Amino acid sequence: MADMKQQIQKRRTFAIISHPDAGKTTLTEKFLLYGGAINLAGSVKGKATARHAVSDWMEIEKERGISVTSSVLQFNYDNYCINILDTPGHQDFSEDTYRTLMAADSAVMVIDGSKGVEAQTRKLFKVCVMRHIPIFTFINKMDRDANDTFALLDEIEKELGIATCPINWPIGSGKEFKGVYDRNTRKITTFSDTARGTKEGASKEISIDDSSLSDEIGEAFREQLIEEIELLDGASAEFDMELVSKGKLSPVFFGSALTNFGVETFLKHFLQMTSSPLPRVSDCGIVDPFNKNFSAFVFKIQANMNKAHRDRIAFMRICSGKFEAGMEVMHVQGNKKLRLSQPQQLMAQERKIVEEAYAGDIIGVFDPGLFSIGDTFCTGAEKFAYEGIPTFAPEHFARVRQVDTMKRKQFVKGISQIAQEGAIQVFQEYQTGMEEIIVGVVGVLQFDVLRYRLENEYNVDIRMENLPYEHIRWIENENIDLDKITGTSDMKKIQDLKGQPLLLFVNSWSIGMTLERNEGLELSEFGR
Ligand code: GDP
Repeated sequence: MADMKQQIQKRRTFAIISHPDAGKTTLTEKFLLYGGAINLAGSVKGKATARHAVSDWMEIEKERGISVTSSVLQFNYDNYCINILDTPGHQDFSEDTYRTLMAADSAVMVIDGSKGVEAQTRKLFKVCVMRHIPIFTFINKMDRDANDTFALLDEIEKELGIATCPINWPIGSGKEFKGVYDRNTRKITTFSDTARGTKEGASKEISIDDSSLSDEIGEAFREQLIEEIELLDGASAEFDMELVSKGKLSPVFFGSALTNFGVETFLKHFLQMTSSPLPRVSDCGIVDPFNKNFSAFVFKIQANMNKAHRDRIAFMRICSGKFEAGMEVMHVQGNKKLRLSQPQQLMAQERKIVEEAYAGDIIGVFDPGLFSIGDTFCTGAEKFAYEGIPTFAPEHFARVRQVDTMKRKQFVKGISQIAQEGAIQVFQEYQTGMEEIIVGVVGVLQFDVLRYRLENEYNVDIRMENLPYEHIRWIENENIDLDKITGTSDMKKIQDLKGQPLLLFVNSWSIGMTLERNEGLELSEFGR
């Protein structure tokens, strides 16, 4: 028991969110380097090669050299056991990316100092806010010309609606990047290019009151720093751990992942400020992670890892207790006891069978086709279910038909199974049957995945017609009469497979107009 408690206490499970190219991979790589999980930076994914080793499961991935699903990396550092949840970007951005955030206890937001807040960061950030998890900001690429620091912070506060509290402060940027000032210790760590990623950099620490400071960074930079610090102390939010843990205040750090500057400082502070696995809400109340009974929920299902077996892997986040290989657990939604087979975990680049795992960890288990996203597993006398995972708004829509009408059965089966795994969302025209369906996806790549899988696994060819809609809204009002809603001319009424009404819009302006025209109408970006 004492051991279990210790094991859970040292776990930190977080996701890194960013817009593509902000430096998420580079930062992750440096984290792994500190943890000794890899020996050489640059080997997490030589983008095309190593990434394949991790999730080499579908032709489409190989063809395009990208990873369709998100993965988890576990490593140890400074007596912490760290689980990093990867949130895929670019075209492989999908609903899985959002769902991954449901498994995290906190998030690290990486921002490119020369670009500020970008589209994908904004989307992922919204999900973090919905969950009220702590968000830590790493402003990266300070070795390149960056935007004005105050302007960057202002942008984060305005665009994302979160207060910021810089823990350190950059001195210059780009060719003139001199280092960072630690507001707590009042020391400056000078910047030196640390040979692109070796652990030991030749940087120096020097107090802001030290007379040799102007020799180190130049008098102009010294004066500017003192001025900025004064301004900052007067203007910025005070550090308040309570607000950080509620996701209302984001501690901000500056650095350069590529040159490995500021990364270890960030990691150390972050690990101290973030918490061990948090309690989770279930239909029987709050479940304590230190509860001796094992419990977990499924946040991702990945099909076809092994082509010869058409099997599925369900990824679950352990929320309490200890998992032991071969243990019998209750599958709550299936109302059945079973043994979770082939439990596996990703350690840096390898997939390995796990013998035991603890609250905070992510494991993948063989799914005989029985599990769905959001399902709960537990042991112990009390049976309970964790809060479901919301459905996230798709942004791309297409009408889908099978080419050969004789293959109706396979078509419906394929579409239903792929929807059950959570790769696509299926809708119907309002008040008609399943003759034609509308498929919604978060990332366009999912359309290709759908086509590929229907052809290869279900032997069904499809025709897809892209629809111009970009926004979907669930209607929150109960018992609303859809006929009575008057929207803009481009608005479309549809329903999901449970018959719940939804609205499609071409642009966000139409959403505003529709809300204006229908008093009391409540729309949501998340489905329950
Ligand atoms: P991701 O798409 O967010 O995972 O971004 P990557 O980590 O792949 O980085 C995108 C590009 O930015 C790569 O060419 C990196 O070498 C580069 N990069 C990452 N961090 C830094 C940094 O701190 N400074 C500079 N100059 N380049 C960086």
